Amino acid sequence: MKWLTVFLAGMVLGLMLTVPAMAADYDLVILNGRVMDPETMYDAIANVGIKDGKIAVISKETITGKETIDATGLVIAPGFIDGHQHCIEPYAYRLMLRDGRTTIMDLEIGAYGPNVDKFYKSREGNSPVNFGVSVAHEFARAAVLDGFSDWKYLNTPDAVRSRVKQGWSSTRPTLEQGNQILAAMDEGLRQGGLGIGSTVGYMRAGVSSREIFELQRLAGKYGRYINMHFRLTPGDDVQEVLGIQEMLANAAALGSPAIAAHFNNPGYNLVHELLVRMRDRGYNVWGEIYPYHAGSTALNAVFLEPEVWVKALGNKYEDTLQDVATGKFYTQKTREEMLKKEPTRSVIVYKCPEEWVANWVKLKGVAIGSDGMPLMPDDGLTWDTPYDKLPNTHPRFSGSFAKVLRLARENNVPLMQAVSMTSYNYAKPLGDMGLKAMQRRGRMQVGMVADITMFDPETVTDNSTFAKGTLPSTGIPHVIVNGIIVMKDSEPIKRFDAGQPIRFEVQEKGRFEPLTAEGWTKTFYASPVDFGGGVPGSQPDMH
Ligand SMILES: [Zn+2]
Repeated sequence: MKWLTVFLAGMVLGLMLTVPAMAADYDLVILNGRVMDPETMYDAIANVGIKDGKIAVISKETITGKETIDATGLVIAPGFIDGHQHCIEPYAYRLMLRDGRTTIMDLEIGAYGPNVDKFYKSREGNSPVNFGVSVAHEFARAAVLDGFSDWKYLNTPDAVRSRVKQGWSSTRPTLEQGNQILAAMDEGLRQGGLGIGSTVGYMRAGVSSREIFELQRLAGKYGRYINMHFRLTPGDDVQEVLGIQEMLANAAALGSPAIAAHFNNPGYNLVHELLVRMRDRGYNVWGEIYPYHAGSTALNAVFLEPEVWVKALGNKYEDTLQDVATGKFYTQKTREEMLKKEPTRSVIVYKCPEEWVANWVKLKGVAIGSDGMPLMPDDGLTWDTPYDKLPNTHPRFSGSFAKVLRLARENNVPLMQAVSMTSYNYAKPLGDMGLKAMQRRGRMQVGMVADITMFDPETVTDNSTFAKGTLPSTGIPHVIVNGIIVMKDSEPIKRFDAGQPIRFEVQEKGRFEPLTAEGWTKTFYASPVDFGGGVPGSQPDMH
């Protein structure tokens, strides 16, 4: 039986060698592209073989598969990860793919804690991109302090109605209410929410330092982040820095992770330095920017009140506050009139010199979060709605990632740094938190999930503008999600089975223990009367 021995030996040898497999051994092959991996710094023209949703081989040898994409002249990069997209709805997905995004997560506002599981369930099998969500601080406050319960979207777009009342923003909770707020968020963390999202900048009067600290303590019990829209953002360069210092001091005291949401504001350079220095010391803290000099929000945001926006910060409505739908700038008078009609109407807020935008793309280690806003009104909008029929929105919705690549090209930022910003810089810190889905993404390596974005480094560009914010990016022809082709030759493909939930496993039990003034006094010896306000033991009359 000599022939059998030879045959078996040949098979063993074949298994041992990691030579590329023969015909159609891969589900999909991508040929002759420039493969870039921001973790290992691998950067070479190579072929990529995908099998069972994973990257099975990266090789200079010839490989074949059931399907083939020719990537000559293109960069083969990890799929873009957007940690700050408020609109996770079918009508948004084609624009997400055109901008190269394979994962979109609403980590800043998020979902009401008890709804986290529903958020995921309602999107499973209904999305070509991966999706994830934080546990929302402001929705827990809206539920407890305003009795809000009319959830429709299970994440940010619900704010259009929950923000009409003001208790969520301005009320200091009693100890009992504070415990209810924290318990609702604990339930969301138990259900697998990625961390806590706090829009404290919209709740300046209502949220004490104590309350923020307790949020970070709760998230820390699960080893998860807080993501903060800083307390005084947007403000000046002192207020921006004070905002991150509140968050980072707590993160250091508690050893819990933290995300600085959209710090592309006056003060960004010191915010960046603080993050870099804390990461160097081993803290899992990071920050994100979107590459635009204007923001977007609801007209009734507290920081747009005349006492803050005009008197304290020295802005003029006529120069800085623009209606998204009409393109007209507000005056104090027209703003007041609109507040009566439609308090949460979308506006664009100009807050930085345009020249700063290129600087933000030079900040090494920063991640990209688009801060894309829900499109309103959205009645009847679907996957098929033509781009030019979508209601207007801030251009960051559809252009953030391509714009980063364009700005990197125009400002001599190394391409590998830009690739890292668009993917790895979110995947790495989330993976370090123990989030398995992100330990296997954001990297072009064998064994990683095949979320892949291919772009032409010479031509990739955003096209959306403040006047027309829903124009698709160009120069990003092909996108793969979990090994499935979801865009080919710039034509998005309706594969709603491709996207996977990005979440933690559901835990059997929550970890929150209700706060008591007695318990605190026992450990920390001081009087509960000046305990810090809000949560717990609030004495609102004394502030
Ligand atoms: Zn924000």
